[in-house]
Amino acid sequence: MKIKYIPAFLIALSLLILGSCRPKQQVDSIIYNAVIYTVDDAFSTAEAIAIKDGRFLAVGNEDEILARFAANRSVDAGGKFIYPGFNDGHSHFLGYGLSVTTWADLVGTSSFDEVVERVVRHYKAYPSEWVMGRGWDQNDWEETAFPTKDQLDDAFQNIPVVLRRIDGHALIANSEAMKRADVTIKSRVEGGEILIENGELTGVFIDNAMRLITRVIPSPSEDDRISAMKVAEKNCFASGLTTVTDAGLNKSDIFLLDSLHQSGELNIRVYAMMSPIDENFEHFFSAGPLKTGKLTVSSVKLYIDGALGSRGALLLEPYSDDPGNNGLQMHSEEYYQEICKDAYNAGFQVNTHAIGDSGNRIMLGTYAMYLKGKNDRRWRVEHVQVVNPDDLKFFREYNIIPSVQSTHCTSDMYWADERLGEERIKHAYAYNDLLAQNGWLINGTDFPVEDISPLKTFYAAVARKDLEGWPENGFHMENAISRDDALRSITLWPAKGSFEESFKGSIEVGKAADFVILEKDIMTISEIEIPFVQVTATYLGGNKVFPVK
Ligand SMILES: [Zn+2]
Repeated sequence: MKIKYIPAFLIALSLLILGSCRPKQQVDSIIYNAVIYTVDDAFSTAEAIAIKDGRFLAVGNEDEILARFAANRSVDAGGKFIYPGFNDGHSHFLGYGLSVTTWADLVGTSSFDEVVERVVRHYKAYPSEWVMGRGWDQNDWEETAFPTKDQLDDAFQNIPVVLRRIDGHALIANSEAMKRADVTIKSRVEGGEILIENGELTGVFIDNAMRLITRVIPSPSEDDRISAMKVAEKNCFASGLTTVTDAGLNKSDIFLLDSLHQSGELNIRVYAMMSPIDENFEHFFSAGPLKTGKLTVSSVKLYIDGALGSRGALLLEPYSDDPGNNGLQMHSEEYYQEICKDAYNAGFQVNTHAIGDSGNRIMLGTYAMYLKGKNDRRWRVEHVQVVNPDDLKFFREYNIIPSVQSTHCTSDMYWADERLGEERIKHAYAYNDLLAQNGWLINGTDFPVEDISPLKTFYAAVARKDLEGWPENGFHMENAISRDDALRSITLWPAKGSFEESFKGSIEVGKAADFVILEKDIMTISEIEIPFVQVTATYLGGNKVFPVK
């Protein structure tokens, strides 16, 4: 019998049967039963993801993903909340690791007595040739003047001690350290200050002057640096970070990082800026940018000024609480021009530390000389703390990207108005104004200057309050940013700031499967809860990296 025609309903039925019998596609893992903030263009949410070979293969609705895919590992997220892996756009990964493993932690001390006590305790636990510490901040003490070396000399006579201020722009050394560094009352340094009282060195060195001391400190051994990076990675994963920036590394540290990536001893993705040292320029400007998937090197870090806390930030008008002092410029304008020119020609991004309004003005003008107009070089200004409103247009006209740290705002808000005065403070930490220029900005912590947690960054960006919820109505709330933008600023936008937005930064098909699962939804819970939300799990390239058994 010849079949003349097949009834339509039979075709439909057979297609349905064939369809449902179609074997499911095998993937490495499926995560389902979640609220997933994809941070795609539409800022859409999803319920499930399928992962294969370290990338997102599908993102969408739970029924559809469970029907289409079979997984070696299926994870019921229990209705929890998933975000792209957090990316810290400005931090000091190695420095943080070293600060945890070798330096006395002086953050949160309430007096210089307490600093000395902690250093003595640290030395007992970790004896070393030089005693190092980091994190003191005289603005937190009852006596807010800079400390002097005397108490350190009493506690450590023949042992050199060097303690860095929280912002890394000042240090205090004891007499033994100054003796080993051959520093005398006659020593001078351009772009730096050596504090002297009653004709005697106080032990405090600011900005470039710190080098007089730091140049004689033996550098950490390779083993020290390896263990520092491993500790740093562990703490980053526990905080939900899958990428960090290291805002200033030397060639040898970059190669060490790369070798640890190659051997699988280190997995966190790193965007490394090279420190402004000839040896680094000579190598990378001729070799060109480096990109391994785990490590990208395509930028130069420069410094124009110091920090606001130690009055090293370069201001157009003197400090409101120190008339006659405009802060410090680290190098001549020609120095910046020369490096910008070389970096531009070699295809490198320039990322300059600029805090004061004068520092920002000089760097914006220097960038403009080479960028010439609209461009996609993504040159960045790091910190951008005080910007004269007349200069905002540079960001827009030359596509210069602001790279901010929201917790700097909430750490400095107690005293920043004294330094800057009523008028200038309105144009400080002006994240909303900065965001408006290009429609995106980069957020980070500058850890170990601030706490490592990206949730604290998110909270500070939207609430502009400290962890106690002070001030009640937020600090200059006209410059708070929305939760959507705050999430972008710690995920997609820092990826864009390192030219990697097509590879990571959002939960979209084809991108690296870097994501974090949180206990609560930071997009909807009350503000004050945000910084305390627990990280349930962190995944990097589809592998769970926190918690690990
Ligand atoms: Zn920094």
